[in-house]
Amino acid sequence: MSRISKERKATYYIGMGMIVLGFILFISVFFFVAGAMKDPFRSSPPPFINSIIGMILMIAGSIVSNIGAKGAAGSGVILDPEQAREDLKPFNEAKGGMINDVVSNIDAIDHITKAQPPKEIIKIRCRNCNGLNDEDAKFCKSCGKEI
Ligand SMILES: [Zn+2]
Repeated sequence: MSRISKERKATYYIGMGMIVLGFILFISVFFFVAGAMKDPFRSSPPPFINSIIGMILMIAGSIVSNIGAKGAAGSGVILDPEQAREDLKPFNEAKGGMINDVVSNIDAIDHITKAQPPKEIIKIRCRNCNGLNDEDAKFCKSCGKEI
């Protein structure tokens, strides 16, 4: 079963932390403005820069947590479809719920499906009797004539 790596989990939580921090910074301006209205003699202007930093932090945080959850390739940061599929595996499994988890936990099934890709069976017809034979057959199994 594929798992989300520790690094990606850490990235996800860092992103979440950035969102929370950004949100606090963003709303702090409103508290400041509310406070300033009670105290009109306060000379310093409201720290609007904080709300801008807060917004940037929230956006950056959502990107970072997305990378953590889906992986660098899975979230489209790195253009690598093969890696993206691998990155998104735990994500899709989590969405698929319990049945998928159970199925992916059975290693044997996973090995069988991976080791033996469906083989194309090609049959050829005997020119003599019209019987179907394997593509690599030297003699017809119905009439015995050379193919
Ligand atoms: Zn034949």
